[in-house]
Amino acid sequence: MNKYDVVIVGSGLGGLLCGYILSKNGYKVILLEKNNQLGGCLQTFTRKGVTFDTGMHYIGCMDDNQLLHRFFNYFSLLNDVKLRKLDENGFDTISLNGNQYKYAMGYENFVEQLSNGFPLERKNIQAFINQIRTVADESPLYNLREINQQVLLSTESVKTSVNEFVSSITNNATLQNVLCGNIPLYAGIKNKTPLYIQALISNFYIQSAYRIVGGSHSIAHSLKKSIEAFGGEIQTNAEVKKFNCGADSITSVELTNGEIIEGKNFISNMHPQATVEKLDTPLIRKAYRDRIYQLENTISNFTVYIQFKKNKVPYLNSNYYHYNSSSVWDCTDYQTKNWPMNYLYMHQAPEVHTGYSEGALLISYMHFNDVAQWANTTVGKRGTSYKEFKEEKATRLIAELEKSFPGISSQIESYSSSSPLTYRDYTATKEGSMYGVLRDKNFPTQTLVSQRTRIPNLFMTGQNINSHGILGVTIGAIITCGEFLGINAIIRDINNT
Ligand SMILES: Cc1cc2nc3c(=O)[nH]c(=O)nc-3n(C[C@H](O)[C@H](O)[C@H](O)COP(=O)(O)OP(=O)(O)OC[C@H]3O[C@@H](n4cnc5c(N)ncnc54)[C@H](O)[C@@H]3O)c2cc1C
Repeated sequence: MNKYDVVIVGSGLGGLLCGYILSKNGYKVILLEKNNQLGGCLQTFTRKGVTFDTGMHYIGCMDDNQLLHRFFNYFSLLNDVKLRKLDENGFDTISLNGNQYKYAMGYENFVEQLSNGFPLERKNIQAFINQIRTVADESPLYNLREINQQVLLSTESVKTSVNEFVSSITNNATLQNVLCGNIPLYAGIKNKTPLYIQALISNFYIQSAYRIVGGSHSIAHSLKKSIEAFGGEIQTNAEVKKFNCGADSITSVELTNGEIIEGKNFISNMHPQATVEKLDTPLIRKAYRDRIYQLENTISNFTVYIQFKKNKVPYLNSNYYHYNSSSVWDCTDYQTKNWPMNYLYMHQAPEVHTGYSEGALLISYMHFNDVAQWANTTVGKRGTSYKEFKEEKATRLIAELEKSFPGISSQIESYSSSSPLTYRDYTATKEGSMYGVLRDKNFPTQTLVSQRTRIPNLFMTGQNINSHGILGVTIGAIITCGEFLGINAIIRDINNT
């Protein structure tokens, strides 16, 4: 039987990045992925020639030498992942109360463009930029600085909520909403979501924002190629059923097909609740188990994947965040009759740029409860009532889009949709939660999942430690691999690459 230095469960972005770092540094690794396709949220699918992303639509800080660009350089991704820059003067459009406001790239440009809509608020918009920059600048890992203590974020940014922060910036309620207009990027909850989440994400995209051309699976495929070149192994259709434990550590994992894979160390890229479920051992105390089970998760979503008629719909180089409610914070509290209260509309970046769009995504929040009656079904076998439910929701979302883009529905060739059940079954994230565990500024330590577990040779990675999104998960992978190599050694390696 093979004995690996590190067995990584799950090939989401977190698992793949850990696989890359550790195999590059001589560890014998194997990644085990339950699905046929690698990548978790990096998975894509193609319908009638149009490739759709499912969980990675746009990324930031990719101008030369910006933060993610430096990470992409280290992870050998620059040649394999093709990008298209969003509109520099409006990469995100916030549609609120019949008006549209633009987020522009570049700090000065951001202030300039937004001040057009709020001429009396220029100073406050500048204060917003200054403060989110301060939060980002204070964090060593978000600046590739070596760390000399375990403090990764300022206390204030952890203990202040996003809404408290924007209220301290301005009394103008519309501007407060606009500054939080990208809230679906973190599924924020009023009086809970900490400032650092919004600050790091906004700062990330304001520096530069790009769509991935041809599908986000290119990130997973490139990482796979590198891991294998370093001698690592990746097995798909390999669902881990349980961790086998000895007296004081994990000895192996058992797959659903009965195969046993032994290792010296284990990294779980699964949701922490799914990880704990697979640990039937007294090494995990009840208090730890209970704490993990009680963690609240971020909301899920309903998405419509639209294929347009050929050469009919001009390519929209901006992400369109629309709100029907007077406050962006209310949208998770929808009722069946007033759903959807918001949506995010994004075009897929086409491989060949004709000026027209081939396909788009239309995403709105959805609670798992809305699909709970089909919870015991599996993909493709959920029955007619589920199909009718999805059709009704898709029709409603498209009708909402039509209000902002008159005539758009007549340009739709075909569409399909996904629900919280789809995300639950394709990523094994609890209740199809978009971004995993919800961070709460009132309980900062309790809602922070450590990369360390109660078992000395089991670690966690992915969006539930540190933060979600391509940047949050990348920093998370460095934190996890820091347990093997030391965080500063990895930072030095990145800086020297
Ligand atoms: C709708 C949506 C849109 C998003 N848009 C963006 C965006 O535009 N930009 C951005 O930066 N981020 C975006 N994100 C967030 C980003 O995709 C995630 O934070 C990130 O990809 C999560 O990576 P991960 O490694 O934590 O886990 P996941 O992607 O959840 O991967 C976990 C992996 O573990 C596997 N697994 C689970 N259980 C088992 C088991 N028992 N055995 C074996 N394998 C198992 C799963 O199959 C999966 O492959 C979006 C997310 C969603 C849901």
